[in-house]
Amino acid sequence: MIFDGLLGMFSKDLGIDLGTANTLVVARGEGIIISEPSVVAVVKDTNRVVVNNGEVAVGESAKRMIGKTHGKIQAIRPLKNGVIADFEITEALLCYLIRKAHGRTNFIKPRVIVAVPSGITTVEKRAVINSAERAGARDVRLIKEPMAAALGVGLPVTEARGSMIVDIGGGTTEVAILALSDIVQSASLRCAGDELNAAIMKHMKETYNLYIGEQTAENIKIEIGSAYELEEELTREVKGQDSLAGLPRVVTINSIEIREALRDPLDQILKSIKGTLEKTPPELAADLLDTGITLAGGGALLRGIDKMLARETGLPVRKADDPLTAVARGTGVVLEQIDQLWAVLEDGRNIA
Ligand code: ADP
Ligand code: MG
Repeated sequence: MIFDGLLGMFSKDLGIDLGTANTLVVARGEGIIISEPSVVAVVKDTNRVVVNNGEVAVGESAKRMIGKTHGKIQAIRPLKNGVIADFEITEALLCYLIRKAHGRTNFIKPRVIVAVPSGITTVEKRAVINSAERAGARDVRLIKEPMAAALGVGLPVTEARGSMIVDIGGGTTEVAILALSDIVQSASLRCAGDELNAAIMKHMKETYNLYIGEQTAENIKIEIGSAYELEEELTREVKGQDSLAGLPRVVTINSIEIREALRDPLDQILKSIKGTLEKTPPELAADLLDTGITLAGGGALLRGIDKMLARETGLPVRKADDPLTAVARGTGVVLEQIDQLWAVLEDGRNIA
Protein backbone atom coordinates (compact mmCIF):
# COMPACT_ATOMS: atom_id res chain seq x y z
CA MET A 1 0.00 0.00 0.00
CA ILE A 2 1.36 3.36 -0.88
CA PHE A 3 -1.58 5.32 0.44
CA ASP A 4 -2.06 5.14 4.20
CA GLY A 5 -5.20 3.19 5.03
CA LEU A 6 -7.17 4.55 7.95
CA LEU A 7 -6.78 8.25 7.29
CA GLY A 8 -7.91 7.64 3.74
CA MET A 9 -11.31 6.49 4.90
CA PHE A 10 -12.12 10.00 6.01
CA SER A 11 -10.50 12.10 3.34
CA LYS A 12 -11.61 12.67 -0.19
CA ASP A 13 -8.96 11.41 -2.61
CA LEU A 14 -8.57 13.62 -5.65
CA GLY A 15 -7.17 13.34 -9.15
CA ILE A 16 -6.23 16.57 -10.93
CA ASP A 17 -5.69 17.10 -14.65
CA LEU A 18 -3.68 20.30 -14.80
CA GLY A 19 -4.21 21.03 -18.49
CA THR A 20 -2.92 24.02 -20.42
CA ALA A 21 -6.49 24.94 -21.43
CA ASN A 22 -8.74 23.14 -18.95
CA THR A 23 -8.30 21.86 -15.43
CA LEU A 24 -10.42 18.98 -14.17
CA VAL A 25 -10.72 17.39 -10.77
CA VAL A 26 -12.10 13.93 -10.00
CA ALA A 27 -12.96 12.62 -6.55
CA ARG A 28 -12.66 8.93 -5.84
CA GLY A 29 -16.07 7.30 -6.17
CA GLU A 30 -17.70 10.50 -7.44
CA GLY A 31 -16.21 11.15 -10.88
CA ILE A 32 -15.52 14.63 -12.24
CA ILE A 33 -16.45 17.32 -9.73
CA ILE A 34 -14.68 20.38 -11.17
CA SER A 35 -14.04 21.45 -14.76
CA GLU A 36 -12.72 24.96 -15.29
CA PRO A 37 -10.55 26.81 -17.79
CA SER A 38 -6.92 26.94 -16.54
CA VAL A 39 -7.06 30.70 -16.10
CA VAL A 40 -6.13 32.85 -13.14
CA ALA A 41 -6.82 36.59 -12.92
CA VAL A 42 -3.84 38.57 -11.69
CA VAL A 43 -3.09 42.23 -11.12
CA LYS A 44 -0.57 43.42 -13.70
CA ASP A 45 2.81 44.60 -12.40
CA THR A 46 2.46 42.98 -8.97
CA ASN A 47 1.46 39.60 -10.44
CA ARG A 48 -0.85 38.99 -7.46
CA VAL A 49 -3.90 36.81 -7.80
CA VAL A 50 -7.12 38.81 -7.80
CA VAL A 51 -9.39 38.20 -4.84
CA ASN A 52 -13.08 38.91 -5.28
CA ASN A 53 -15.42 38.68 -2.26
CA GLY A 54 -12.89 36.49 -0.49
CA GLU A 55 -12.62 34.10 -3.45
CA VAL A 56 -9.58 33.97 -5.70
CA ALA A 57 -10.51 34.69 -9.30
CA VAL A 58 -9.81 31.40 -11.05
CA GLY A 59 -11.39 29.51 -13.94
CA GLU A 60 -14.72 30.72 -15.34
CA SER A 61 -14.91 33.63 -12.91
CA ALA A 62 -11.41 34.78 -13.96
CA LYS A 63 -12.33 34.44 -17.62
CA ARG A 64 -15.49 36.50 -17.11
CA MET A 65 -13.62 39.30 -15.34
CA ILE A 66 -11.35 39.90 -18.27
CA GLY A 67 -12.37 42.79 -20.46
CA LYS A 68 -15.01 43.88 -17.99
CA THR A 69 -12.60 45.33 -15.47
CA HIS A 70 -10.03 48.07 -15.54
CA GLY A 71 -6.93 47.33 -17.61
CA LYS A 72 -4.84 46.39 -14.61
CA ILE A 73 -6.27 42.88 -14.43
CA GLN A 74 -4.89 40.26 -16.72
CA ALA A 75 -5.90 36.68 -17.42
CA ILE A 76 -3.00 34.28 -17.12
CA ARG A 77 -2.85 30.68 -18.24
CA PRO A 78 -0.11 29.50 -15.90
CA LEU A 79 0.61 26.34 -17.92
CA LYS A 80 0.37 27.87 -21.33
CA ASN A 81 3.20 25.96 -22.99
CA GLY A 82 2.57 22.66 -21.32
CA VAL A 83 5.22 23.30 -18.77
CA ILE A 84 4.66 25.38 -15.70
CA ALA A 85 5.19 28.90 -16.94
CA ASP A 86 4.41 30.46 -13.60
CA PHE A 87 4.90 28.54 -10.37
CA GLU A 88 3.19 30.94 -7.98
CA ILE A 89 0.09 31.19 -10.08
CA THR A 90 0.00 27.44 -10.62
CA GLU A 91 0.08 27.07 -6.88
CA ALA A 92 -2.83 29.50 -6.51
CA LEU A 93 -4.77 27.43 -9.04
CA LEU A 94 -4.03 24.15 -7.24
CA CYS A 95 -4.90 25.71 -3.91
CA TYR A 96 -8.26 26.91 -5.21
CA LEU A 97 -9.05 23.49 -6.70
CA ILE A 98 -8.09 21.46 -3.66
CA ARG A 99 -10.01 23.73 -1.29
CA LYS A 100 -13.06 23.78 -3.55
CA ALA A 101 -13.01 20.02 -4.11
CA HIS A 102 -12.30 19.04 -0.57
CA GLY A 103 -14.84 21.34 1.04
CA ARG A 104 -14.59 22.77 4.50
CA THR A 105 -16.22 19.88 6.33
CA ASN A 106 -13.30 17.47 5.82
CA PHE A 107 -10.44 18.12 8.17
CA ILE A 108 -8.27 15.32 6.94
CA LYS A 109 -6.03 16.38 4.11
CA PRO A 110 -6.83 14.75 0.76
CA ARG A 111 -4.46 12.42 -1.04
CA VAL A 112 -3.91 13.73 -4.53
CA ILE A 113 -2.76 12.41 -7.90
CA VAL A 114 -1.75 15.14 -10.35
CA ALA A 115 -1.38 14.47 -14.08
CA VAL A 116 1.62 16.32 -15.51
CA PRO A 117 3.00 16.74 -19.05
CA SER A 118 5.46 14.02 -20.05
CA GLY A 119 8.15 16.61 -20.75
CA ILE A 120 8.19 17.88 -17.16
CA THR A 121 11.60 18.33 -15.52
CA THR A 122 12.58 17.07 -12.07
CA VAL A 123 12.51 20.63 -10.74
CA GLU A 124 8.98 21.12 -12.08
CA LYS A 125 7.86 17.81 -10.59
CA ARG A 126 9.13 18.93 -7.21
CA ALA A 127 7.37 22.28 -7.64
CA VAL A 128 4.01 20.63 -8.41
CA ILE A 129 4.35 18.34 -5.38
CA ASN A 130 5.32 21.23 -3.09
CA SER A 131 2.52 23.42 -4.42
CA ALA A 132 -0.06 20.69 -3.88
CA GLU A 133 1.22 20.10 -0.36
CA ARG A 134 1.12 23.79 0.46
CA ALA A 135 -2.39 23.83 -0.96
CA GLY A 136 -3.43 21.28 1.65
CA ALA A 137 -2.77 17.87 0.10
CA ARG A 138 -0.89 14.99 1.64
CA ASP A 139 0.77 12.11 -0.17
CA VAL A 140 0.92 13.76 -3.59
CA ARG A 141 1.67 11.46 -6.53
CA LEU A 142 2.30 12.36 -10.16
CA ILE A 143 1.24 10.54 -13.29
CA LYS A 144 2.25 11.48 -16.80
CA GLU A 145 -0.63 12.78 -18.88
CA PRO A 146 -0.39 10.22 -21.71
CA MET A 147 -0.45 7.40 -19.16
CA ALA A 148 -3.51 8.91 -17.48
CA ALA A 149 -5.21 9.50 -20.83
CA ALA A 150 -4.54 5.90 -21.88
CA LEU A 151 -6.05 4.58 -18.63
CA GLY A 152 -8.97 6.97 -18.99
CA VAL A 153 -9.86 5.61 -22.41
CA GLY A 154 -9.34 2.00 -21.34
CA LEU A 155 -6.17 1.07 -23.22
CA PRO A 156 -4.41 -2.07 -21.93
CA VAL A 157 -1.38 -0.18 -20.59
CA THR A 158 -0.34 -2.83 -18.07
CA GLU A 159 -0.12 -5.55 -20.73
CA ALA A 160 2.90 -6.47 -22.84
CA ARG A 161 1.03 -5.26 -25.93
CA GLY A 162 1.92 -1.81 -27.29
CA SER A 163 -0.75 0.87 -27.56
CA MET A 164 -0.53 4.47 -28.70
CA ILE A 165 -2.19 7.61 -27.43
CA VAL A 166 -2.11 11.06 -29.01
CA ASP A 167 -3.45 13.76 -26.69
CA ILE A 168 -3.96 17.07 -28.48
CA GLY A 169 -4.57 19.72 -25.82
CA GLY A 170 -4.41 23.51 -25.88
CA GLY A 171 -0.68 24.17 -25.52
CA THR A 172 0.84 20.75 -26.12
CA THR A 173 0.34 17.55 -28.02
CA GLU A 174 1.53 14.47 -26.17
CA VAL A 175 2.37 11.42 -28.24
CA ALA A 176 3.13 8.18 -26.41
CA ILE A 177 3.48 4.46 -26.94
CA LEU A 178 2.77 2.45 -23.81
CA ALA A 179 3.34 -1.11 -22.68
CA LEU A 180 3.87 -2.90 -19.35
CA SER A 181 2.74 0.11 -17.28
CA ASP A 182 5.41 2.27 -18.80
CA ILE A 183 5.83 4.90 -21.50
CA VAL A 184 8.11 3.23 -24.03
CA GLN A 185 8.46 6.12 -26.43
CA SER A 186 7.04 9.63 -26.27
CA ALA A 187 7.16 13.13 -27.65
CA SER A 188 5.78 16.34 -26.23
CA LEU A 189 5.17 18.95 -28.88
CA ARG A 190 4.32 22.61 -28.30
CA CYS A 191 1.86 22.60 -31.12
CA ALA A 192 -1.80 21.90 -30.37
CA GLY A 193 -5.13 23.74 -30.18
CA ASP A 194 -3.57 27.17 -29.55
CA GLU A 195 -1.46 26.84 -32.68
CA LEU A 196 -4.52 25.92 -34.72
CA ASN A 197 -6.20 29.10 -33.46
CA ALA A 198 -3.08 31.13 -34.31
CA ALA A 199 -3.05 29.67 -37.83
CA ILE A 200 -6.66 30.81 -38.32
CA MET A 201 -5.84 34.33 -37.08
CA LYS A 202 -2.91 34.48 -39.49
CA HIS A 203 -5.08 33.32 -42.39
CA MET A 204 -7.71 35.99 -41.68
CA LYS A 205 -5.06 38.69 -41.49
CA GLU A 206 -3.20 37.62 -44.63
CA THR A 207 -6.18 36.80 -46.83
CA TYR A 208 -8.74 39.38 -45.71
CA ASN A 209 -6.72 42.04 -43.83
CA LEU A 210 -8.96 41.19 -40.91
CA TYR A 211 -7.84 41.09 -37.29
CA ILE A 212 -9.75 38.63 -35.14
CA GLY A 213 -9.30 37.70 -31.47
CA GLU A 214 -8.26 34.31 -30.12
CA GLN A 215 -11.78 33.51 -29.00
CA THR A 216 -13.16 34.17 -32.48
CA ALA A 217 -10.44 31.98 -34.01
CA GLU A 218 -11.33 29.19 -31.61
CA ASN A 219 -15.01 29.50 -32.49
CA ILE A 220 -14.17 29.25 -36.20
CA LYS A 221 -12.08 26.13 -35.53
CA ILE A 222 -14.85 24.48 -33.55
CA GLU A 223 -17.64 25.43 -35.95
CA ILE A 224 -16.06 24.82 -39.36
CA GLY A 225 -12.50 23.54 -38.77
CA SER A 226 -11.45 20.20 -40.27
CA ALA A 227 -8.44 18.06 -41.16
CA TYR A 228 -10.06 16.01 -43.94
CA GLU A 229 -12.45 16.79 -46.79
CA LEU A 230 -16.02 17.16 -45.49
CA GLU A 231 -19.02 15.57 -47.17
CA GLU A 232 -20.60 18.98 -47.06
CA GLU A 233 -18.19 21.88 -46.78
CA LEU A 234 -19.27 24.62 -44.34
CA THR A 235 -19.34 28.41 -44.41
CA ARG A 236 -19.77 31.13 -41.80
CA GLU A 237 -19.52 34.84 -41.30
CA VAL A 238 -16.64 36.30 -39.34
CA LYS A 239 -16.63 39.71 -37.69
CA GLY A 240 -13.32 41.42 -37.12
CA GLN A 241 -11.40 44.63 -37.48
CA ASP A 242 -9.99 45.82 -40.77
CA SER A 243 -6.23 45.86 -40.33
CA LEU A 244 -5.81 48.93 -42.55
CA ALA A 245 -8.84 51.12 -41.85
CA GLY A 246 -9.27 49.96 -38.25
CA LEU A 247 -13.04 49.65 -38.75
CA PRO A 248 -15.25 46.62 -37.98
CA ARG A 249 -15.94 44.43 -41.00
CA VAL A 250 -17.65 41.12 -41.85
CA VAL A 251 -16.40 38.46 -44.26
CA THR A 252 -17.72 35.03 -45.24
CA ILE A 253 -15.28 32.13 -45.05
CA ASN A 254 -15.52 28.39 -45.78
CA SER A 255 -14.18 25.15 -44.34
CA ILE A 256 -11.89 24.49 -47.32
CA GLU A 257 -9.74 27.56 -46.71
CA ILE A 258 -9.67 26.91 -42.95
CA ARG A 259 -8.50 23.33 -43.59
CA GLU A 260 -5.72 24.75 -45.74
CA ALA A 261 -4.82 27.23 -42.98
CA LEU A 262 -4.63 24.39 -40.42
CA ARG A 263 -2.41 22.25 -42.61
CA ASP A 264 0.91 23.48 -41.25
CA PRO A 265 0.30 22.89 -37.51
CA LEU A 266 -1.44 19.58 -38.31
CA ASP A 267 1.62 18.53 -40.32
CA GLN A 268 3.79 19.19 -37.28
CA ILE A 269 1.59 16.93 -35.18
CA LEU A 270 1.72 14.24 -37.88
CA LYS A 271 5.50 14.51 -38.07
CA SER A 272 5.81 14.01 -34.34
CA ILE A 273 3.57 10.90 -34.51
CA LYS A 274 5.64 9.44 -37.34
CA GLY A 275 8.90 10.24 -35.53
CA THR A 276 7.67 8.45 -32.41
CA LEU A 277 6.62 5.41 -34.46
CA GLU A 278 10.05 5.25 -36.10
CA LYS A 279 11.80 5.15 -32.72
CA THR A 280 9.59 2.38 -31.36
CA PRO A 281 10.96 -1.18 -31.11
CA PRO A 282 9.60 -3.27 -34.02
CA GLU A 283 7.64 -5.73 -31.84
CA LEU A 284 5.63 -2.95 -30.25
CA ALA A 285 5.24 -1.07 -33.52
CA ALA A 286 3.78 -4.24 -35.02
CA ASP A 287 1.17 -4.39 -32.21
CA LEU A 288 -0.07 -0.99 -33.33
CA LEU A 289 -1.34 -2.44 -36.59
CA ASP A 290 -4.08 -3.98 -34.43
CA THR A 291 -4.40 -1.59 -31.50
CA GLY A 292 -3.91 1.56 -33.60
CA ILE A 293 -3.82 5.14 -32.37
CA THR A 294 -6.32 6.56 -29.89
CA LEU A 295 -6.92 10.32 -29.94
CA ALA A 296 -7.65 12.24 -26.74
CA GLY A 297 -7.70 15.89 -25.65
CA GLY A 298 -9.89 18.63 -27.09
CA GLY A 299 -8.02 18.55 -30.40
CA ALA A 300 -9.42 15.06 -31.05
CA LEU A 301 -12.76 16.80 -31.63
CA LEU A 302 -11.50 18.46 -34.82
CA ARG A 303 -13.51 17.13 -37.77
CA GLY A 304 -11.73 14.41 -39.74
CA ILE A 305 -8.50 14.40 -37.75
CA ASP A 306 -8.90 10.64 -37.29
CA LYS A 307 -9.34 10.08 -41.03
CA MET A 308 -6.38 12.29 -41.89
CA LEU A 309 -4.07 10.51 -39.43
CA ALA A 310 -5.27 7.07 -40.60
CA ARG A 311 -4.55 8.02 -44.20
CA GLU A 312 -1.08 9.37 -43.40
CA THR A 313 0.10 6.63 -40.99
CA GLY A 314 -1.71 3.59 -42.38
CA LEU A 315 -2.81 2.70 -38.83
CA PRO A 316 -6.34 2.43 -37.48
CA VAL A 317 -7.20 5.67 -35.63
CA ARG A 318 -10.09 6.17 -33.24
CA LYS A 319 -11.30 9.17 -31.30
CA ALA A 320 -11.76 8.55 -27.58
CA ASP A 321 -15.26 8.99 -26.23
CA ASP A 322 -15.36 12.30 -24.39
CA PRO A 323 -11.72 13.13 -25.20
CA LEU A 324 -11.65 16.29 -23.04
CA THR A 325 -12.05 14.25 -19.84
CA ALA A 326 -9.74 11.30 -20.67
CA VAL A 327 -6.80 12.39 -18.49
CA ALA A 328 -9.02 13.22 -15.51
CA ARG A 329 -10.89 9.93 -15.79
CA GLY A 330 -7.52 8.17 -15.92
CA THR A 331 -6.49 9.66 -12.59
CA GLY A 332 -9.85 8.43 -11.26
CA VAL A 333 -9.06 4.89 -12.46
CA VAL A 334 -5.76 5.01 -10.55
CA LEU A 335 -7.49 6.27 -7.38
CA GLU A 336 -9.93 3.33 -7.56
CA GLN A 337 -7.28 0.67 -8.20
CA ILE A 338 -4.23 2.10 -6.52
CA ASP A 339 -3.07 -1.30 -5.24
CA GLN A 340 -2.93 -2.72 -8.77
CA LEU A 341 -1.83 0.38 -10.61
CA TRP A 342 0.93 1.94 -8.51
CA ALA A 343 3.46 1.10 -11.23
CA VAL A 344 1.87 3.58 -13.65
CA LEU A 345 2.66 6.47 -11.28
CA GLU A 346 5.81 8.51 -11.65
CA ASP A 347 8.47 6.92 -9.49
CA GLY A 348 5.87 4.22 -8.85
CA ARG A 349 8.50 1.55 -9.08
CA ASN A 350 10.43 3.21 -6.25
CA ILE A 351 7.40 3.43 -4.01
CA ALA A 352 6.47 -0.25 -3.76
P1 ADP B 1 -5.41 20.82 -22.15
O1 ADP B 1 -5.31 19.38 -21.73
O2 ADP B 1 -4.14 21.37 -22.69
O3 ADP B 1 -6.02 21.66 -21.08
P2 ADP B 1 -7.83 20.15 -23.59
O4 ADP B 1 -7.67 18.68 -23.77
O5 ADP B 1 -8.77 20.62 -22.56
O6 ADP B 1 -6.40 20.85 -23.40
O7 ADP B 1 -8.22 20.74 -25.02
C1 ADP B 1 -8.33 22.11 -25.23
C2 ADP B 1 -8.19 22.39 -26.70
O8 ADP B 1 -9.19 21.68 -27.44
C3 ADP B 1 -8.38 23.86 -27.04
O9 ADP B 1 -7.34 24.28 -27.91
C4 ADP B 1 -9.71 23.88 -27.75
O10 ADP B 1 -9.78 24.91 -28.73
C5 ADP B 1 -9.74 22.54 -28.41
N1 ADP B 1 -11.11 22.09 -28.75
C6 ADP B 1 -12.17 21.99 -27.93
N2 ADP B 1 -13.26 21.60 -28.62
C7 ADP B 1 -12.87 21.46 -29.92
C8 ADP B 1 -13.54 21.10 -31.15
N3 ADP B 1 -14.83 20.79 -31.16
N4 ADP B 1 -12.80 21.07 -32.28
C9 ADP B 1 -11.50 21.38 -32.28
N5 ADP B 1 -10.80 21.72 -31.17
C10 ADP B 1 -11.49 21.77 -30.00
MG1 MG C 1 -4.72 17.66 -21.37
